Amino acid sequence: MKTLIEPFKIKSIEHIPITSYSQREKFLENAFNNTFYLHSEHVTIDMLTDSGTTAMSSRQWAALMDGDESYAGSKSYFKFEDAVRNITGFKHIIPTHQGRAAERIVFSILGGKGRVIPNNTHFDTTRGNIEFSQAEAVDLPTSIGTRPDVAADFKGNMDLDALKALIEKTGKANIPICMITVTNNSGGGQPVSMENISQTKELLNSYGIPLYLDCCRFAENSYFIKQKEKGYENKSILEIAREMFSYADGATMSAKKDGLSNTGGFIALNDDKLAEKMKTVLIVTEGFVTYGGLARRDLEALAEGFREVMDENYLKYRIEQVKYFGDLLLAAGVPLLVPTGGHAIYLDAKRFAPHIEPEFFPGQAIACEVYKTGGIRSVEIGSVMFGKKDENGKHIAPPMELVRFAVPRRVYTKSHIDYTAEAIIEVFNNRTQLRKMKIAWEAPLLRHFTAKFEYV
Ligand SMILES: *Cc1c(COP(=O)(O)O)cnc(C)c1O
Repeated sequence: MKTLIEPFKIKSIEHIPITSYSQREKFLENAFNNTFYLHSEHVTIDMLTDSGTTAMSSRQWAALMDGDESYAGSKSYFKFEDAVRNITGFKHIIPTHQGRAAERIVFSILGGKGRVIPNNTHFDTTRGNIEFSQAEAVDLPTSIGTRPDVAADFKGNMDLDALKALIEKTGKANIPICMITVTNNSGGGQPVSMENISQTKELLNSYGIPLYLDCCRFAENSYFIKQKEKGYENKSILEIAREMFSYADGATMSAKKDGLSNTGGFIALNDDKLAEKMKTVLIVTEGFVTYGGLARRDLEALAEGFREVMDENYLKYRIEQVKYFGDLLLAAGVPLLVPTGGHAIYLDAKRFAPHIEPEFFPGQAIACEVYKTGGIRSVEIGSVMFGKKDENGKHIAPPMELVRFAVPRRVYTKSHIDYTAEAIIEVFNNRTQLRKMKIAWEAPLLRHFTAKFEYV
């Protein structure tokens, strides 16, 4: 059988609003043309993020009831710790309420002025936490990784020559850790090969620099390795994930992704001294070491989520649903980042709206129009999120201008995907009507969350 099916049936439904174009125009205006300000009750299909938007299973809901809300030594923590250690093999498993809390703890200790943290591509909050500590965040994707129009396997890989050059230039003493993000979220949800992870580790070893994985989508990355990398066809997802983590000295995770839950995260590492420091910061700012800012029932849901996410029927559906979405758009000529990655499709705004220069935010204009057309919420990942200004106030654009439609896990059916594709295609067919935008107000850090936009 070739037909893509959801490997679950629906026990409980949640109503979604159906609104009109003129209502949506008003809602978007009230939201300063920023999809982050929209009220979810005005959103028909919400593809803003796949973070914490997962539909939990009946087993996870049952596990919530079984949560042990003890402040210290909760049995729910030990289940969580077992589940994470089973996959990662790390000695210290430190829970946090989400991924950026893990990042903040790591970089409040390892960051600081003069330090440099390389990554294949930093996620926005990772970059934010590094820069907040006054360290420098450096992205080192391969050259093909920033070419949205070129299809290739493992476009999430780290550029090893660039990493070596950076270490030689910066000096190993100023690089406390190197990170690899699997899959590479800001680089299009593209996977990183096992070969690239092991070669990165080998290079770092020669300088004595530890490797940390930003492992939010470890299961999706493992599935791609199984599908595309020679020698992994017959290995289980767990075996592949374990090998991936065996090259790392530590990891940070937003478990709102491949933890299949609505909140949670962790830091995992082997270094005893560093773990003690991190636990101290955790207790001061997040909570005791056996809950880290989470309700203990969340740890129960996560322990079950880590089991379910490695189910190959689930992963096949997950990756193929995103591919199905991308194929509908490609068939209509819509320019996408190819191949489709693990958790989202990314429109290539430079080719979609070539009449809007990056400094006038083509991706933002597309995101606004798709919302008005179908009530679909997406997010710009381009000059709004990563754009900078030089000394003269001139716009410095990032390498890609993308609009991300993230697919929440186990939430939407095939007809929801069909509806979304139809709206995007309609906007594409009228693309010459898209208008330039400018920022009316912005915050000094992570401006995309709260910026206010106007049409030029
Ligand atoms: C979501 C995400 C984070 C941050 O996690 P939060 O749970 O949103 O704080 C960090 N890195 C990557 C790659 C992510 O996708």
